[in-house]
Amino acid sequence: MKEINSAEFEKEVLQGGKVILDFFSTECPPCEALASKFEDLAGLYGNDIKFLKMYRQGNRELAEKLAVKSSPTLLFFDNGKEVADRLSGGVKKSEIVSRLDSMLTDNRIREIRSQIKPSVSEYDVLILGAGPGGLTAGLYLCQSKINTVLIDISLPGGHVSTTHEVSNYPGFIDPQPGYLLSHNMSEQTKLCGTVYKVAVDITSVDLVKKEVVIDEFETVKAKKIIIATGTSPNPTGAPGEKELKGRGISYCATCDAKYYNDKDVVVIGGGNSAVEESEYITRFARSLTMVHQFDKLTANKQAQEKAFRNPKIRILFDTEPRSFARSGDKIVTEVENVKTHDSKTLESDGVFIFIGFKPNLGMIKDKLELDQWGYIKTNEDMLTSIQGVYAVGDVISKKYRQITTAVADGTIAAMAIAKELD
Ligand SMILES: Cc1cc2nc3c(=O)[nH]c(=O)nc-3n(C[C@H](O)[C@H](O)[C@H](O)COP(=O)(O)OP(=O)(O)OC[C@H]3O[C@@H](n4cnc5c(N)ncnc54)[C@H](O)[C@@H]3O)c2cc1C
Repeated sequence: MKEINSAEFEKEVLQGGKVILDFFSTECPPCEALASKFEDLAGLYGNDIKFLKMYRQGNRELAEKLAVKSSPTLLFFDNGKEVADRLSGGVKKSEIVSRLDSMLTDNRIREIRSQIKPSVSEYDVLILGAGPGGLTAGLYLCQSKINTVLIDISLPGGHVSTTHEVSNYPGFIDPQPGYLLSHNMSEQTKLCGTVYKVAVDITSVDLVKKEVVIDEFETVKAKKIIIATGTSPNPTGAPGEKELKGRGISYCATCDAKYYNDKDVVVIGGGNSAVEESEYITRFARSLTMVHQFDKLTANKQAQEKAFRNPKIRILFDTEPRSFARSGDKIVTEVENVKTHDSKTLESDGVFIFIGFKPNLGMIKDKLELDQWGYIKTNEDMLTSIQGVYAVGDVISKKYRQITTAVADGTIAAMAIAKELD
């Protein structure tokens, strides 16, 4: 593995055979998350593929020429030509491996795989999920000098990192950009000394043995586990939704509203998230049609009044989506009135879906006691039905899901665990 500069690009990359090039920056959490994966893979693939790094800010002109717009960005070259899709942001090891493998023969891939040595690491506490609940638990445990690891399938921050503005987190007079609040939470926990393993694939979870395998070959063991995996948006399940996800159908206004400047948008839902996010979307969109299954909005009164006052928003009550399809640049949403059964089609530039959430339990749900909606039952110490396994935040059975309630749960679980480990 070697760091190069733009003067060496021609020789090292364009005439360098098979190359992976990492454009990195300083003060860049996703770059830090990538660094150890890059180093591990250099150890495995280094005889076949050259692993190079380039400091993006110090080689700005070349980065711009190559249209590298964010850090980290990974580029794959063979004989001077880019040969695989670029990777950026929270890059997973498996994503890099699949691109490196595509540059080698099957035999060589088998030989490399046979050299992989599984690793095992041990901690006092393993936290699954680095949203506000997991980060707060990590902070309290770390400040109690308890050896803690935080594992996340994505980058740290959870839902807050994609929330446009947070105006109800105590201690801040002005609304805080969600990404900044979550970044500060994450840095505070990391600086304390909590170990981060983020943007990883979870291969298996054994709650009884307290073992989690990540990226196929890395076993992480602990005395206690905290599940803080939050929730994911519910899909409508209507035909066409899966196919158009990320290609005209979105579940995140902060991430995607900016692409709909002066465009027409459809929003499915009528609860708090739908109404609040619609307000935000209309900063960009020309018109917004809200499709809501009941005859009244279910958002709080203040949010409802704002929506009714907004001239860009019209609401179709008693209406549900039946299918989504693409027609040229447009998304065609077929909707049905649930009372009259009349159908019609809505043509828009994009569709946002905000119809509630489901707990992220994936491979762990069958082993825990859950409530009727599939959320984890806990006692007042956040202990689940399995000894030594705690759960906090949106993933647990409770009435109110907010940042403040998630951080409170994280605090309680950490203090209970600290007392037990004492
Ligand atoms: C659009 C929107 C706006 C909101 N606005 C506000 C607001 O203004 N104020 C407020 O107080 N609350 C708000 N909330 C609610 C708030 O964001 C949540 O209550 C809070 O983020 C819950 O924190 P958490 O740690 O439980 O879960 P999350 O924030 O969901 O974090 C869970 C983490 O777990 C990770 N994960 C998922 N599955 C796995 C797995 N199998 N293994 C490992 N990691 C995993 C995820 O990648 C994520 O990082 C909003 C929510 C949304 C969706």
